[in-house]
Amino acid sequence: MHNSFEQRIAQSSRRVRMKTLRHILEYRATVFNPSYAKCMVILPHPDDEVFGMGGTIAAKFAAGAECVFILASLGEKSHCQCCLSSESMIKAKRREQFSAALAALGVLNPSIIELGLVDSEFPVAGTGYYAQCLERIAELLREVAPEEVYYPAKNDSHPDHKALSILCSEGITQSRLSCRELRYITWGWYLPSVKLCKELARSNVVKVDGQSWAERKQEAIDIYLKSPPAPCGEPYCGHLPKLLIEVFSESQEFFLSQHNVISFKSEV
Ligand SMILES: [Zn+2]
Ligand SMILES: [Zn+2]
Repeated sequence: MHNSFEQRIAQSSRRVRMKTLRHILEYRATVFNPSYAKCMVILPHPDDEVFGMGGTIAAKFAAGAECVFILASLGEKSHCQCCLSSESMIKAKRREQFSAALAALGVLNPSIIELGLVDSEFPVAGTGYYAQCLERIAELLREVAPEEVYYPAKNDSHPDHKALSILCSEGITQSRLSCRELRYITWGWYLPSVKLCKELARSNVVKVDGQSWAERKQEAIDIYLKSPPAPCGEPYCGHLPKLLIEVFSESQEFFLSQHNVISFKSEV
């Protein structure tokens, strides 16, 4: 009884923090209409595309945008603490669900590039492996030459999301590509930090009204959360807190944005 009361208090304070974050984002945001501009969507794990920006992807494809998805890892560690599902089986399932979720969003022949990073062990700045990954991302950016690059917010709580954000930001600088950067939030909703609030305060905030795509987005979310689960009973993408699922199901999506031009790169 004591426990459940404590849990209720913790949950309600988390709900207040999430609502506060939403209010700040709404207050700061200007409307952004997804266009046919060519884009690159860079993802730490399969599922972040739907949870972070599912409505925006659906809208861009409906507008005829060419889009390349860069999948940093296959999220194979999502069950390392709960059951004995093999990493190769989890990779196969998550790869399958990724394509199915994109199809639900209207993306039928997606261009997907896998970077092959190890889930939960993304490279740290200063190492040779980091430099190698950075060069690969910069090379892909030069090859694809997108007008918009979507990647995780710099302080998006999850270590893989934060690590990939740094790689993307530095990769854009290294590629010398002129593009619009749009950083999405996933785990930052659930574990907002002071650093995330500072990042938000220093960025342009844009919002996409994904109401017209809400059904497609829900269908894509259900592919991740309602497909037959792993042996432990949890979805293959791992356990997600109920409050986070509520936020992911919202039709309005926010991005921290900046224009990156060759001669100028603002610090966030
Ligand atoms: Zn993720
Ligand atoms: Zn499990």
